Amino acid sequence: MTCDHCGAQNAEGTRFCVNCGAPLTAQSNYSRAGQTQAQSRSDASRPYQPTYTQPIITQEQLPEKFRPLSPWAYFGYGILFSIPLVGLICLIVFSFNDTNINRRNFARSYFIVLLIAVVLLLILAFAGVLGGLWVRYR
Ligand SMILES: [Zn+2]
Repeated sequence: MTCDHCGAQNAEGTRFCVNCGAPLTAQSNYSRAGQTQAQSRSDASRPYQPTYTQPIITQEQLPEKFRPLSPWAYFGYGILFSIPLVGLICLIVFSFNDTNINRRNFARSYFIVLLIAVVLLLILAFAGVLGGLWVRYR
């Protein structure tokens, strides 16, 4: 066996290295562990062959909750949400409806954009009122 401390060759079963005196028992264990590691490495390098074939799930087989929406569905919902009042009601309903999480998330993102637009419009309107007052009472 090879000494890990100095690299000298020692007879098998020797407890201490003849060259440097380092204990060899732990090192022989270490080299054995290294061997199994190398073995498992070579196992890993072999092409992976699954013992079972995983079923391929198509979009149609997915439960309704996780089914992706088609681009036209997004387009349709976008049109629906932009209808005054009716769109807003649909938006709120779909934002809390978990029937399809993709539709729910789209409704939520649309809702966030709508809120930002409303806040921006309020700021602009407020600035407009202030500007008008400033022009009148200057
Ligand atoms: Zn040694």
